Amino acid sequence: MRDVIIVGGGPGGLLLGHFLEEHGIDYQLFERGKIAQSWRLMRHGMKLLSPAVPGVDWTSLTLKYPLWALHGVQRPFPTREDFLCYIDAFAREHLLRIVENTSVARAAVAPGGFSVETSAGQVSCRFLVVATGSLSSPAYPDIPGIASNPYVIHSSDFVHCMTYSGRRVLIIGGGNSAAEIAIELAGTAEVTLCTRSPLRYFSGTGELEDIRGSSESTLKECLRFRIIALRESDPAVGVSGRRVRFESGEEEEFDRILCATGYRPAWIPVDGGDVRADEDGYPVISRTGESSVPGLYFCGSLARFNRRCAFIHGFRNYVEKVFWDIADRL
Ligand SMILES: Cc1cc2nc3c(=O)[nH]c(=O)nc-3n(C[C@H](O)[C@H](O)[C@H](O)COP(=O)(O)OP(=O)(O)OC[C@H]3O[C@@H](n4cnc5c(N)ncnc54)[C@H](O)[C@@H]3O)c2cc1C
Repeated sequence: MRDVIIVGGGPGGLLLGHFLEEHGIDYQLFERGKIAQSWRLMRHGMKLLSPAVPGVDWTSLTLKYPLWALHGVQRPFPTREDFLCYIDAFAREHLLRIVENTSVARAAVAPGGFSVETSAGQVSCRFLVVATGSLSSPAYPDIPGIASNPYVIHSSDFVHCMTYSGRRVLIIGGGNSAAEIAIELAGTAEVTLCTRSPLRYFSGTGELEDIRGSSESTLKECLRFRIIALRESDPAVGVSGRRVRFESGEEEEFDRILCATGYRPAWIPVDGGDVRADEDGYPVISRTGESSVPGLYFCGSLARFNRRCAFIHGFRNYVEKVFWDIADRL
């Protein structure tokens, strides 16, 4: 029986693995793809919204091993590729015990801990930590005609603007992903951005979730010059094939309807345990990350210790709490 099993090899799971490794605690981490698989699937060339420079570092997993120290990293905002290299190097330099290409299907409460079903067989552990992230389940807007519509895609499926050359693309959403994809498509496709409320910019609100970075000024100019059309506070209310009806009563036809509407938290089923969730669907956790099932912890973006926990710099504070709680009980 392992002391700790971690499910998920993203920044959250890897940081916990690092703490366990440093303190000589027995653990095994299972990742369904390669290290930081969810970052491998993100758009190429995407820039992070969190800076990584000496003194203002919101991105490194530990300040002892900072991202900005890697040769050639873009400053102040690293690219997705920089971050991926960093995470990969972090895991390999610290000799973390990761089993790649092995997914965990489910777990069950068992005497003294958990029994865990992986694609490579059954394993058991005393403490189980779920770090599968909040990006595994794309969220679509609840609009009649969106589900199973072949013209609808999610922002997580967007690869490159080439695919959309000359097409009429409707982007549903008003956050950073919507803004970034609209800008990437601008000039290549005929882009319309549709939001349910007024666009919110970081320069005006100071809120990290609002449109920020270079996207803010570029989007404003594209809207001003009508390179991107805007249906602000005029949400789509019905879709039939390519035809979209808006709240204003107007209708328009598009070749693609792209939903930049975020993700829903989801995790593996745990038989014999009732994992309580809050009103937003996140697991209810203690101040040290333990769920309503004793011995089952959450860490990384699935663990909402507070609102900022979705960002990597929150992990530096909170993953360590998960580590110490488990270490104290071993
Ligand atoms: C477009 C985009 C841009 C972002 N930009 C930033 C940014 O600039 N700065 C920032 O701080 N945050 C950013 N984020 C948020 C970012 O996703 C999180 O900060 C971080 O990746 C979450 O880490 P995590 O370890 O919790 O989850 P993830 O990074 O999602 O890692 C979870 C891992 O678990 C694996 N997994 C899932 N299910 C299983 C299973 N059943 N068995 C085995 N393995 C499994 C997945 O393959 C994945 O590798 C961004 C998110 C998105 C979508």
